[in-house]
This record gives sequence, C-alpha cells and structure tokens, in this order.
Amino acid sequence: MIEMKRYVRGWGLALVLASSFLLVTVCAAAQTTKKRKVVFVIADGIPADVLEKVATPNMDAIAQKGKYLRAYVGGGKETYSETPTISAVGYNSLLTGTWANKHNVWDNDIADPNYNYPTIFRLYKNQFPSGKIAVYSSWTDNRTKLVGDGMAQTKKLQVDYHADGFELDTVRFPHDKQRDYMHRIDEAVIDAATAGIRQQAPDLSWVYLEYTDDMGHMYGDSEQFHKAIAYLDAQMGRLWSAIRYREQKFGEEWMIVITTDHGRGENDGKDHGAQSDRQRSTWMVTSLANVNAYPNFRKPGIVDIFPTIARFMNLRVPTDISRETDGIPMIGAVSLVDMRVNGFQNKLDIEWTPLDPSDKSTVKIWVSNSNNYKSGGKDDYTLVAEVPISRQHASIPWHNQNPITKIVLEGTHNSLNRWVMNPPPPAEKQ
Ligand SMILES: [Zn+2]
Repeated sequence: MIEMKRYVRGWGLALVLASSFLLVTVCAAAQTTKKRKVVFVIADGIPADVLEKVATPNMDAIAQKGKYLRAYVGGGKETYSETPTISAVGYNSLLTGTWANKHNVWDNDIADPNYNYPTIFRLYKNQFPSGKIAVYSSWTDNRTKLVGDGMAQTKKLQVDYHADGFELDTVRFPHDKQRDYMHRIDEAVIDAATAGIRQQAPDLSWVYLEYTDDMGHMYGDSEQFHKAIAYLDAQMGRLWSAIRYREQKFGEEWMIVITTDHGRGENDGKDHGAQSDRQRSTWMVTSLANVNAYPNFRKPGIVDIFPTIARFMNLRVPTDISRETDGIPMIGAVSLVDMRVNGFQNKLDIEWTPLDPSDKSTVKIWVSNSNNYKSGGKDDYTLVAEVPISRQHASIPWHNQNPITKIVLEGTHNSLNRWVMNPPPPAEKQ
C-alpha cells in the first residue's frame, strides 16, 4: 500500500490514469464485440424440493457462476390467468412469455395455440433473419406445434437445426415398459445438442428432456425419480462443457437457463395439473451472474424467461408485444413489479411496487377495452393517467359494463399488465 502511494505521485499518477483508461476502453470494446448466445432447457416435472434434495454437482457449478432460484408456474392462481400445471402448457408459457389465457395451450393435445403471441424464436428471427435457431427435443410436437416450424401461422418460421422424432423411431428406440428408452432418447438429444453447440453454435436453442417426468409418473417420490435427476445433472454437465468450449475457444458470451414445466402433487409426487403449492413450485438454474433485484427478492415465474432472453440478446420488444407479455426481465433495470388491480363500482384500484424505493420517475397508465390482439389485430390504448412511481397506487374511472378492460402500467424500464373482466374476477393470490 505504501509503495503504491509513493508511486502514484507526479508522473506515476498520470501513467496509472492513462493505462487504466486504456484498460477500461479495451475491456469495453471486447465486451461489446462478444457474440451473445442462449440455451434454455426444460427438464420435465421436477418440483423445487426434490431438486434441492438430490445431489446435482453439475447444476451447482452453473449456479455457482450464476444463480439458483425458486420459481413458479400456473399463472395467477384463482384469476383469469390461472394456467394448468401441465407440460405443453408450461413450455408455451416459457416460449411466449404469457399465461394460457393468451397462448391458448391448455393441455398436451396442443389443439389450437394462439400464434398471435409470438415465441421467443420469432421475436429473435424478426430482427435477425440470418441468425440461427435450434430445437433439440425428446418430444417432436415442441418444434412442429409449439414453435411452429414452417407453419403458415408463424409466417413460415424456419428452425435452422433440430434433433427430435426419436420417440417415433421404435426400431432404434424400442419401447420398453420401464421406459428406459426415454432415457436413451434424452441421451440422443443431448448428444445432438452438445455437438450442435460445439460445431454450429446456434444463437438461440431449446433443449427439452422428458425422462424425469416419466419416472415421476411411474414411481412418484422415489429412488427412480432421484436417479433420473442424477442423469439429468450429468447431461447438464455435458451441455455446460460444450458452452464453456465455445466461450473459451470462440470468445462468445453464453447464457444458459435450466428450468422445469411444473412440480408434482403433495401426496406421492405422481401427478400434476392442478394448483397446489408443490405443483406450482418450480426452479431455475442460470449462468447469469447479474440478475436484478426482482428475482433476488421475489419468486420469478416461467414467463419471466422470455423477456430475460430478449434483454440478454438485445432484442427490441415492440410495444404491442410488451403490453401483452406477462413476464418481467430478470436482468437489467426494472421499474415496477407486483401489479394488482381491483375493480369495484365504477373505479379501478391499481397498485404496484417500485423496485427501487428512491425512484423519482413516473408510471403511465394505459387502458384498452378491446382484445383485438388475440386475433392478430391492434388494440387502441388510452393514456388515462401519469403518476409518480413512488405513489404505488392509482384510482381510475372504470366502465364496469365492458366485458374486458386491459390495463398496462408503463414504467421507464418495464411494463406490467392485468386484465379485468366483467364480472370482475376474484383478487389475485400470487
Ligand atoms: Zn411436464
């Protein structure tokens, strides 16, 4: 310390300042030129309490660089956005950043997804048509129905790389009663994903693995289920090695987020689909080291992954999409969270919480009485008030005969939205 003090006098000081300026400039330049890429993984049907019980050294290593978070699925319990804790329903909430009342996938039949709520893949491709996207999946419907590869409804979105269809190949993967073949399929998916990341390095990839849910359904809370999670952890270790290889060899900056689509029942862990705490209880493991105060102090939802990926990849989210997005970015600046709306008589009582208590900015309150977005049209929003964010509350007139009132709170850094239906739904419990 003393040596340093003597050195920084006179020319020494100038030299230190000059060289540190140079260092900062070089670092900043290196950072902006790093290509950013994302992998998100859904490992099916693992409640948070089970993941926390089983040894997962590989996922721990990722969380050590970034974060482990408890999370939730299922939308606003007992509200208009309540969402079944069912697989494809959860996947589509991740893909679109919306709950089932919008994306319209209610079960694994995937009968009629509403493609007017674009997936993160379409958001990305709309801005970077030459960027590459990939789906590595133990279930083919994920690409063909949810992502909508090549479909007219997705404006013929092209998935550049994919590995799936293994569950349809009964020659290579003969179906056995124990469903060991599903583990072998997950392995084939991971083989393809790790090779794909190492060689093609798609900009945005989805890896989906099924075996954990199969063991959950067959054996519930059991050794078999825990063993399936150990397999998953080893697979995540291989994926993480492929990512580290790209980072070290090609200087890219990767984000990985691993999550699950639902928990399991309290009784024996076999079932899911309803709204109990354990069925809604999920988790995220991410390499992101810089999550903001929102997931640090509140439980994030599966819908938060969409805007987080968008932020990480510097995607512009058009206003009409951000007004419908049910998620909140987990990185970067966030103005407000915890929106609650209560309709009574001819008033709407709106509450929110500023993430930074000393925030001096304002919140714009927008209202629309149409839901044309649902069918691909535009909604006209009226600016009804602009109030200091620190007030945390506003009362606005409400024409309670309207079948739907969509309210958007627009902060400096993020927007929140809630709907009020006529008659008004019960207050949210989330
Ligand atoms: Zn599932």
